This record gives sequence, structure tokens and C-alpha cells, in this order.
Amino acid sequence: MKKSRVILLECTDYDEDKVYRTVKRGLELLGGIENFMRKDEKILLKPNLLKRAVPDQAITTHPSVFKAVARVLKESGYNKISYGDSPGNGNPTKISNTAGIARAAEELGIEEADFRQGEKVDFPQGKVAKNFVISRGALDAEAVINVCKMKTHALERVTGAVKNIFGCIYGFNKGLSHAKYQNADRFAKMLCDLHVMIKPRLHIMDGIVAMEGNGPSSGRPVKMNIILMSGDPVALDSVFCRLINLDPESVPTNVNGEVWGLGNWHDENIEILTPQGEKPIEEIVKKYGKMNFDVYRGDIKKAGFHRVEWLMKLIRQRPYVVEERCIRCGICVNSCPVEGKAIKLDKDMGTIPQYDYDKCIRCYCCQEMCPQKAIEVKTPFLRKILDKLACSR
Ligand code: SF4
Ligand code: SF4
Repeated sequence: MKKSRVILLECTDYDEDKVYRTVKRGLELLGGIENFMRKDEKILLKPNLLKRAVPDQAITTHPSVFKAVARVLKESGYNKISYGDSPGNGNPTKISNTAGIARAAEELGIEEADFRQGEKVDFPQGKVAKNFVISRGALDAEAVINVCKMKTHALERVTGAVKNIFGCIYGFNKGLSHAKYQNADRFAKMLCDLHVMIKPRLHIMDGIVAMEGNGPSSGRPVKMNIILMSGDPVALDSVFCRLINLDPESVPTNVNGEVWGLGNWHDENIEILTPQGEKPIEEIVKKYGKMNFDVYRGDIKKAGFHRVEWLMKLIRQRPYVVEERCIRCGICVNSCPVEGKAIKLDKDMGTIPQYDYDKCIRCYCCQEMCPQKAIEVKTPFLRKILDKLACSR
């Protein structure tokens, strides 16, 4: 099997020139941007613009990384470049402005792509998803560069290269996808079909400051001091997992991604190249890894506990509202994709939103969209014990 190449570059802050030099060097190590796309193609830069947030919050791709990629493209003679993402909620232009992406794009004369309209696209060859509603801006592009952010994710454990392409789906159809593809495994399979359809050519991960804990929007920024690049999104995400002491096999987008032919997650099929030469994963982890990175590592599947339905009810993780932080805005209710809503807010009563856990499909859209970081994910005590048992087998 041909090995996938992942480029790892050290970069300790977001100084624009430093990031630009780092990204440029990384692309040289990958053989040059010309290896991935032609100069006459329409290119979409797809950052992570999950929701309105300033760069320091580490929710969105940092503008320095976005700008560096755009600058290298421009200097290499690429002129048909646009950018965009469909956020979980809100106006894409306002979100790009707050994230600093709009200003970076304007400085380089890069247009905002149309993520305000979508179109249904049939995809009969999909293994689980037979159609998608895709944002116009993604459909218009001939080549997509995925400029993703290194973060944790309540449903898929991590959001990296594979998960970031979800933002090509238009508007509230993202929420509907959660309702249609319930559970992490089905959802990951849909994401893999989406990748097969969109075929992003290149993946660049902003891991200078990552997000740990209650990601992808309510966690803590944490310095990882790296940028990762690859033509293989699965290999890139797998290296990300190793760096945060997470078994790549426990991430459904990795395992399914390999089955779908998107790339390799096994260490032996990945070559890690740095400006100092090829390095074994152990050396990379020793130098850049964060063993206590706050990410969910439990895996009850390995022990087969998930097959016992009554036990699952007792041990399923669940979102909950932290009363002191909640401002009763109702955004969580609006973002819930379940018919009849699995979370409700009675504004007249003045109470915090209440969950109906029998209806809740654990998609965590409410947690992603809460502007106050007021929704956290609880792991029941019994689950923690079972996770420990499973890990020790
Ligand atoms: S989105 Fe957050 S702050 Fe707003 S009502 Fe829901 S839990 Fe409270
Ligand atoms: S309540 Fe939250 S986690 Fe449950 S289905 Fe609705 S949005 Fe998803």
C-alpha cells in the first residue's frame, strides 16, 4: 500500500509572516501546490467558521493561517479563488468578519463564495447518503482546499480534516443531517460520502492553538504549536489523534474514512515529513504531543457493552445546561434538529432549557451553538467505570 504523507511544521504563534513562511515551506514539502490543482481552476478555501467568534477563542480557523494559504496561492499564479463556510447558525458574512477571515480575504482580493443558497444534489453512489443539499459556493468550485481547525468534538471526539467538510452542506440541512444520520458511526459514514462527492484536494490544519475539552465551540484554547498538511484527510486526522494521546481507531471518521478509500489511519501507512526530514510517529509525539489533552478517550464498544440496551440508557452521555451561565436566549432550542424538539425553553417560567432525553439523539448541535458555553456533556459515573474496564482489556 502506498504511504500517505503528512507534513508537520512547528509554528509557535500567529505572527503573519512566520505563519506564511511555515505554510509556504509545508507546501514545498508536499511537492508544490501545482501538485494538487491547476491554475485555471476555481478554488474554494474552506476554513472552519462554525459560529461568531474572535480568533483567540480557537473556534474558527485563524486568519493568519487562512491568509498564508491564500497568499501562497496568489503568488503561485492562482487567481480564481473564493472562500466560505456554512456556519451552524447565523450570517456567514458576519461570522467571517468577526473571525478576521473577511479582512484577510479582502486584503488579497479574494471573494466571498455564496453560502447563502443551497442546491439538492443526488449522489446515488453514496454508501449511506444518496443526496445532499450543498451550498452554492462549494458547488461552483472546481477544487476545494480544506483549511480546518484542530478541535475536540462531542459527537465524533475530534473535528479535523474529515469533519470540516460538513460546512459545505447548506444551512439548517446540517441539523437535519444529524437527525437523519443518528449516532457517531452513521454520521461519520455520511461525512465520508460527502468527501467522496466534494473531493477536497488538500487539507491544512491550524493546530497552532487547538481546542480541548468541551469542543467544538465551548472548550479551552490550548497551544499545540503546529500546522499539519496532507492530501489525505484521514492520515492527517490520525496524526492529530496520536498527538493528543487518542487512539485513531476510536474516531469513526478515521475508521470509516479508510474503508471509503479517503486515506489511511494506520501508523505504518503514514509517513510524517518535517523540514528536518522524515520522522517516526514516536519522535513526533514525544516532541509535540500533549498526553493530557482533554478529549474523551472511553470506548465501551471494545467491551461490547453497547449491545445491552437497558445498560446503554444508564450509561449514555448526555448534554446538560449549566444554570449560572445560561441567558435563556433559546439558540439551543432553535438548533435542535429533532422533530418536536428534544430541548425546550419556557421563557415565561424563566427557567433554563429542559431536555427530553428520550427524544434526544445526542447530536450536540445545542452544545455547539450555545453562545454562553452553558451546555456541557456529562459522562455518567457508571460509564466512567465501564470505560476504564474496557480500556484495560
Ligand atoms: S443557548 Fe445556551 S445560553 Fe442560550 S438558552 Fe440555550 S443553554 Fe441557555
Ligand atoms: S437536545 Fe441537543 S443533543 Fe439532543 S437532539 Fe437536540 S440538539 Fe441534539
